[in-house]
Amino acid sequence: MSLLPASHPLLKRFDKYATPVLAVLGLGLLLLETRKPLRKRTRPRTERWVRNVVLAAPSMPAMRLTLLPAMVGLGQLMAPYRTPLSRLPEPARLLAEVLLLDYLGYSWHRLLHSPLLWRLHRVHHSDLDMDLTTGWRFHFGEMLASIPYRAGLAALLGVRGSTALGFEVVFEACTAFHHSNWQLPYEVERRLAPLMVTPRAHGIHHSIVDRETQSNFGVVLTLWDRLHRTLRLNVPQQDLTIGVPAFPDPAGQTVARLLTLPLEPLDAWARPDGSVPGHPAYAGPVTALAE
Ligand SMILES: [Zn+2]
Repeated sequence: MSLLPASHPLLKRFDKYATPVLAVLGLGLLLLETRKPLRKRTRPRTERWVRNVVLAAPSMPAMRLTLLPAMVGLGQLMAPYRTPLSRLPEPARLLAEVLLLDYLGYSWHRLLHSPLLWRLHRVHHSDLDMDLTTGWRFHFGEMLASIPYRAGLAALLGVRGSTALGFEVVFEACTAFHHSNWQLPYEVERRLAPLMVTPRAHGIHHSIVDRETQSNFGVVLTLWDRLHRTLRLNVPQQDLTIGVPAFPDPAGQTVARLLTLPLEPLDAWARPDGSVPGHPAYAGPVTALAE
């Protein structure tokens, strides 16, 4: 039995159905964020797009050849054993698997903001604007580092490969949606935000203000941010500056620099001149979505 069965029938089905669905969704979001942008751009799109696409170029094949096969291979490896989830009857097991996978996504994202993994994750956060292509801008090392947690721990707890791959389609679709710069009608997003992570909510996570970055870690559901009291929705989008305060200079964000950024020492959460970005405490409950 292979631990990385890259041509398993489940993965072939993923290639045949999920890849085109995600490609069409990406194209749709690209059109929507171009026609109805949420935040004003601070940099030319081509400057960021070239970097983001080149950075994604090794990450996407790495995901297809390692993370996704690991979900299937480790699921198969654990299939004969009793696990916490294998004792549940259907459809309770499927529901528990899906909730667990989303919670692993939330908790992994919190770990990415710890000092060790921030070295990798800051490549994603240093983008100076946020749009669909930011959702692809992950250092390939971050993708590889996620395998023991998102595939290994999930399999150990009893998540089947088929559920993990099916959920991955939702995970990738939601990642594309909440990174997009699409301005949904405020009323629609206000109703959606208590349930799922939206573009305004995730924009707050990409703020250069520390308190705001340390919030909204969820991928699909906002339930986990609510339970851990990390939900923060009351920051107006026009007040946001997207990025990491130590990296305000677009000229310093070459592809070569971004690929080797994990090797650079960690910076304090401050601008190069030493000032610390801040916002006033906003009025109203933190869970009320600001426009
Ligand atoms: Zn993050």
